[in-house]
Amino acid sequence: MNNNKPSQKIRNSNPSLEDYVSGVRSGNRIILAQAITLIESKKSSDQEKAQELLIKLSSHSGNSLRIGISGIPGAGKSTLIDNLGCQLIEEGHKLAVLTIDPSSVIRGGSILGDKTRMIKLSRNANAYIRPSPSDGNLGGVTRTTREAIVICEAAGFDIIFIETVGVGQSEVTVSQMVDFFLLLLISGAGDELQGIKKGVLEIADMIAINKADGENINSAKKTASDYSNAIKLIKPIDNNWNTPVLTISSLENHGLRKLWGIIETRLKERRDSGDLHKFRLEQ
Ligand code: GDP
Repeated sequence: MNNNKPSQKIRNSNPSLEDYVSGVRSGNRIILAQAITLIESKKSSDQEKAQELLIKLSSHSGNSLRIGISGIPGAGKSTLIDNLGCQLIEEGHKLAVLTIDPSSVIRGGSILGDKTRMIKLSRNANAYIRPSPSDGNLGGVTRTTREAIVICEAAGFDIIFIETVGVGQSEVTVSQMVDFFLLLLISGAGDELQGIKKGVLEIADMIAINKADGENINSAKKTASDYSNAIKLIKPIDNNWNTPVLTISSLENHGLRKLWGIIETRLKERRDSGDLHKFRLEQ
């Protein structure tokens, strides 16, 4: 595994457009972070520069797998991304994780940012983690997330996880900007507690019941079977796809390979049928 610390490069306090383009393209993490800060800026001179930068980078984007992961706080999203992400990096991938935290919009404080998350990935030179800002407006956050995806792709990240706390609207928004949308649930919490509002099951490409370990295995299996039955009663997003429901343990690394295998299969099918290309154009 590559555990090198991210390279420390000297910060250029006022990069030109060309500095941004060459820095992002060469994977300079400091410039990458500055470029995302630029697109998040509300200053009109920054916004103009950000638009020029996006135009220049867009021809180098579009080549990643964009995966959305949603679930309530404590469902295990960061543990899943940390452990699965390390496996993917070992296989040669470069991974970016963008987090959207709608709670920060609603409460003014961030759930996702409150603790140290994804410890292994945060030390890995082939991973980049970036929380979206809380600007009091979910629409603004999602616009900058879309643009941050473009920048990360131009920097060579080939798998991008977009993580969001499930509070209803955010799942729908995220599902529209990703190629695969995973809903992460746990057993022993009712639909209401897990933020499963009407419509959320319909947009999921897969449902994973996490924490299927120790004494929790049977209740996780029961929850998976309940959701499997519930899924059969709703209209699928795609008639060619039966939304799988599986049990996993992110902590003990059980089922994560299988979960990734399903994601790859689904995306290969969508790519081969031309559906993914069409979807990207719409995005
Ligand atoms: P997040 O808020 O959705 O990102 O959840 P975290 O990944 O921070 O996990 C919340 C808590 O659940 C932490 O204490 C994790 O160690 C624990 N956790 C996460 N995944 C699992 C799992 O598969 N099994 C068990 N038993 N605990 C887990």
